[in-house]
Amino acid sequence: MVNVIELRGVSKCYGKLQAVYPLDLDVQAGDIVGFLGPNGAGKTTTMSMMLGLRRPTSGTVRLFGQPPSSLQSRARVGIMLQESGVPGSLRVDELLRLFQSYYPYTLPTAELLERAGLVEKRHALVSALSGGQKQRLYFALALAGDPDLLFLDEPTAGMDVEARLHFWEQVRGFTALGKTILFSTHYLEEVDALATRIIVIDKGRIIAEGTPHEIKGLTADKHVILRTNLPADLVNGYPGVRTAQVQNGELQVATTRPEDFLRRVFSEGWEVNDLRVKEVDLETAFLSLTEEVHV
Ligand code: ATP
Repeated sequence: MVNVIELRGVSKCYGKLQAVYPLDLDVQAGDIVGFLGPNGAGKTTTMSMMLGLRRPTSGTVRLFGQPPSSLQSRARVGIMLQESGVPGSLRVDELLRLFQSYYPYTLPTAELLERAGLVEKRHALVSALSGGQKQRLYFALALAGDPDLLFLDEPTAGMDVEARLHFWEQVRGFTALGKTILFSTHYLEEVDALATRIIVIDKGRIIAEGTPHEIKGLTADKHVILRTNLPADLVNGYPGVRTAQVQNGELQVATTRPEDFLRRVFSEGWEVNDLRVKEVDLETAFLSLTEEVHV
């Protein structure tokens, strides 16, 4: 079967800066890929090259076996970038119709409005939409051509909690149709909930790849959770402790050495109640992975 996305030796230099080192990547139909990395890691650059918006310094990109700029692949791809730069002087439904006109096959305007939660705003000027509403409009525009592959670059930036939940519900509906998604976000709980596969990029290189479960398993960190009179500030200075914070009245400590931490807590005579030791969440795993490279 042809890969939906295929990268072979793709790299990018901006002058002297090597933003992306040669990388290979295969994404298959139905994959939901969370593309993660700290600021400046090279996510947007890589996505832009996948889309044919930036030319790689070396290597080849194929979408559905074709160059990304070919009509065949463009007709099957929907894009939601961080800055979409659409004309603000059009009304929401006018802009949707304009985008629909670019594609051979489109979803009906009413369905696009419904999916984006913009039915009530269909006659509003684009310039009059709030930041979160604009994001939803960009999502509707990305779906206009009923794409088989969707690129979402930090799609929920600027959305409130309710809008984010609605957004991911819509994305889930889209994935249930067997479509393929590649998305970047800084909200790691979204990746954990949605992605079938995670790619972590840092300083222009892929440093980890796998299911959310596998990525969490790559770090030696554990979470120790307890009720205690021990202050979090003090714990942050303990060796092997990555973070310590109080949540819902409980101290949560991410550490590579839970046994050493607990030995010290007991030997210093602090109160300990409701003690649990758990696997870390994706956010902690991500921090630990990217920090290892930064050292
Ligand atoms: P963020 O999470 O902050 O959006 P990112 O992972 O998407 O970051 P990129 O935008 O791909 O990162 O940037 C990768 C590197 O390339 C950064 O060091 C950035 O400063 C640099 N860079 C990006 N675009 C350009 C450009 N047009 N000209 C020069 N350097 C650039």
